Amino acid sequence: MNCPLCGQKEPQMLTDRLRNGEPLRVLYCPDCDAGYLEDRKTGDELKAYYRDAYRKEYKPDLRKQADAGRLFDIAARFQEDRIARIERYLRKEASVLDVGCSSGAFLYRIKDKVQALAGVEPDPEAARFASRACGCPVYAGYLPETPLPKGSFDVVCSFQVMEHVEDPLAFLLQMKEYVKDDGVLCVEVPNLRDALVSAFELPNYRRFYFRSAHLFYFGDRGLRLLMERAGLEGDVFYSQDYHFVNHMNWALSDKPQPSAEDGMGEPAFPLRREADPDAGARLNGFLRRVNREYKALLEELGMTSKIGFIARKKRD
Ligand SMILES: [Zn+2]
Repeated sequence: MNCPLCGQKEPQMLTDRLRNGEPLRVLYCPDCDAGYLEDRKTGDELKAYYRDAYRKEYKPDLRKQADAGRLFDIAARFQEDRIARIERYLRKEASVLDVGCSSGAFLYRIKDKVQALAGVEPDPEAARFASRACGCPVYAGYLPETPLPKGSFDVVCSFQVMEHVEDPLAFLLQMKEYVKDDGVLCVEVPNLRDALVSAFELPNYRRFYFRSAHLFYFGDRGLRLLMERAGLEGDVFYSQDYHFVNHMNWALSDKPQPSAEDGMGEPAFPLRREADPDAGARLNGFLRRVNREYKALLEELGMTSKIGFIARKKRD
């Protein structure tokens, strides 16, 4: 199998088994610093999957289905890192497009900061929900099918989407067309160097990490290469969403916590109701300090759960 990004013929193997035990291989191209699922859905099959099936297979709570409202409620609580990162571009007169916006949690959180918002989302239920929640147009489908004018957005962002698309370079080039000449493109994806997969020996996490919905995986060098190939220039950022206790849970049991939200936000000890409140506050204060230091270390090492970039169009 040749690398779908560059045609390279000698891939390495990252895994031969995915989440849920599926016997599929993920290969790694050292030239592109990118992983790719060997057997990938394409074309109409891929579109039908994101329209109908994706959210039934992948959900933040491993115990139960999540409808668009539940997805929104969870996601809306965890947008701080994204907002902080692009805050300086969210001027009062700015227009923002979110590609693959899911239930609209990010758009909702920034709606009072900017003048105009729009979203695109292949899952029609999520798109309807996002449009109602944010009071802005959210198109069910794909960017080129929308009536949105090209070159009209100050900020085009896409969070945790590029790993799902058939052709990441084409995806970037497409989004780039909708960015104003002085605008920015912000893309975030899972990090191939996530500490739990790149530094720790956790066989179950490894299978949990690689999943059939992710067609591509990117390292930081891989993202820089893609930016270059797309005629973009910008900086790579690292961001850790799961907390220290979530990593300790994996390290000790090699099992996920029941729900993604248990592992996000601030960690806390399970304090007894009878516990001295002052002692409880100090114990949890200690845990929060450890968590901050741990996340900072992961960023320094480039081993966070997410990576991404903020880029501008390269001028020639
Ligand atoms: Zn390659």
